[in-house]
Amino acid sequence: DKIPVGVSACLLGEEVRFNGGHKFHSYIDKTLGEYFSFRTFCPEVDIGLGIPRRPIRLIRRDGDVTCVDFEDDQLDYTQALIASADAQRSWQAGLCGFILKKDSPSCGMERAKVYDGKQTVRDGVGIFAERLMQNFPELPVEEEGRLGDAVLRENFIQRV
Ligand code: SF4
Repeated sequence: DKIPVGVSACLLGEEVRFNGGHKFHSYIDKTLGEYFSFRTFCPEVDIGLGIPRRPIRLIRRDGDVTCVDFEDDQLDYTQALIASADAQRSWQAGLCGFILKKDSPSCGMERAKVYDGKQTVRDGVGIFAERLMQNFPELPVEEEGRLGDAVLRENFIQRV
């Protein structure tokens, strides 16, 4: 049987991005798909943002990072994304690892953009991804961008 792995839905071609598009990644689908059976999720759709939707972003205020509407800081989706990760915990408990979409304020595993009011720094973690990694500290997590690195890729495959 194939190994069950969770994946950001847009990476498998589901048209769930803010602009109605996807980010199909053929290495994940074709090559890793020979060994893994994928279960998809899209946190932003899960919290009801719709397709298409206004983009969201990470901002830092007084040291805290939150996820808000790109144009209206008062529309804060942080708690909803955390709740979404917790609500999906029971079905995700059967998975052996996760592959996440890089740079996303929801799914990004590292180096996501954070705006501090003056500049953008790439030191953020997507809100959903951060909670996911807290919920499953024992499971391997990778971003699609990092799977191009042979060492990181092998390490991930060994651990699932
Ligand atoms: Fe949905 Fe995550 Fe893909 Fe954004 S990166 S479209 S939240 S699955």
